[in-house]
Amino acid sequence: LRRNPGELEFHQAAKEVLDSLTPVVERHPEYLDAAILERICEPERQIIFRVPWVDDSGRVQLNRGFRVQYNSALGPYKGGLRFHPSVRLGTIKFLGFEQIFKNALTGLPIGGGKGGSDFDPKGKSDAEVMRFCQSFMMELHRHIGAETDVPAGDIGVGGREIGYLFGQYKRLHNRYESGVLTGKSPAWGGSLARTEATGYGTVIFAREMLATRNESFDRARVIVSGSGNVAIYAIEKVQQLGGNVVAVSDSSGYVYDPDGIDLDLLKQVKEVERGRISDYVSRRGGRAELRTNGRVWDVATEDGGIQVALPCATQNELDENDAAALIAGGCLAVAEGANMPCTPAAVTALQAAGVLFAPGKAANAGGVATSALEMQQNASRDTWTFDYTADRLEQIMINVHNQCKETAEVYGAAGNYVLGANIAGFVRVADAMLALGVI
Ligand code: NDP
Repeated sequence: LRRNPGELEFHQAAKEVLDSLTPVVERHPEYLDAAILERICEPERQIIFRVPWVDDSGRVQLNRGFRVQYNSALGPYKGGLRFHPSVRLGTIKFLGFEQIFKNALTGLPIGGGKGGSDFDPKGKSDAEVMRFCQSFMMELHRHIGAETDVPAGDIGVGGREIGYLFGQYKRLHNRYESGVLTGKSPAWGGSLARTEATGYGTVIFAREMLATRNESFDRARVIVSGSGNVAIYAIEKVQQLGGNVVAVSDSSGYVYDPDGIDLDLLKQVKEVERGRISDYVSRRGGRAELRTNGRVWDVATEDGGIQVALPCATQNELDENDAAALIAGGCLAVAEGANMPCTPAAVTALQAAGVLFAPGKAANAGGVATSALEMQQNASRDTWTFDYTADRLEQIMINVHNQCKETAEVYGAAGNYVLGANIAGFVRVADAMLALGVI
């Protein structure tokens, strides 16, 4: 706390991991001797920079850029960029810290990092977003590379932003280094199934958890929070598995749509028109209603309850009161599509009530795993089919699930996916750090 004052989200994420590790360091004192815990909490490098840009009216605007290169014991730093007004150093550090363990759980050769800016793309023109991205890359380019650090998207950074960032990097380096960024369009170096990967992967993880209790998504009523990239493809996968998503949200409220979300309409509004869920409701008609009071989780206790909740918006969006509503509504499983969306008190309450709970660092690992598959395609100058890539994603998610489950069992905490994910991810990174010496 003294070393990192004011970084509340980072403290929350670090405490959760460190609390899980007591049984590991008891069995492996060599981690303590080599100060692995202290070293893993300290980023290898943090870069903070000024991002000036000119808006459409000719005024100079200023934002702050960040890249935290957290841990490269397993491979190049890998993790997304977040553009949102709430971004601070502590936000990026929490995300980067989580990323270390998530990336380790995928079994692929990628280290952990994260970056972003307090820039808000909402309401900006394409030209303003382009000028911002170009200015952001003017500094970032000297710190990244296909073998060094490979950023991707996150909140506020999708295909459009990745395109502008890649264009500026290419121009500055005068070479087509495809592997320097992931989340690119499949039309120019991206991977098929990357757009779908995080949402699909989260639902695959939840499906595997449910199967341990002979439950499934078939006819399940499901709440998904958010309506961005992760939420949309979580909904798609739930629907493929026979489930019914009855609520989605954005930062202005939520939609209750008891007949099930019309995914084609939601994609049109959010992906094509960059609209809001209020636009979805006005076009949807029927029984769909927009609610701007209360929380999306309140739906859990309506119309016979729900079976699964998938928080896919942002950190700390589901607290202990929301957890109580989910439990009262008969929820069987919660899988975090977002990073750290459940508060520690919510996680404790869900686990105490016997609700299956998948932490984000395991459940949403499908996005970064498919980014690593994009890096493989770029390195071999190859492109894979959608089905081949989606099959690899499916297998990776099943492996992540099994690793978490089995690790929890080995440490006497069967069913505790939080403990399983933290320990399995940590051990892989810690062993690599031991092998690489004191660096
Ligand atoms: P998007 O920007 O596509 O969508 C974010 C969604 O969450 C929007 O509906 C947004 O609503 C809502 N949201 C964001 N901030 C807030 C807030 N402070 N309060 C309420 N709602 C909010 O982002 P993604 O879907 O890519 O990311 C969602 C989450 O998933 C994040 O936690 C991200 O770190 C995590 N994640 C994403 C991965 C990916 O591949 N994209 C990979 C792994 C994790 P509004 O439009 O109103 O702001």
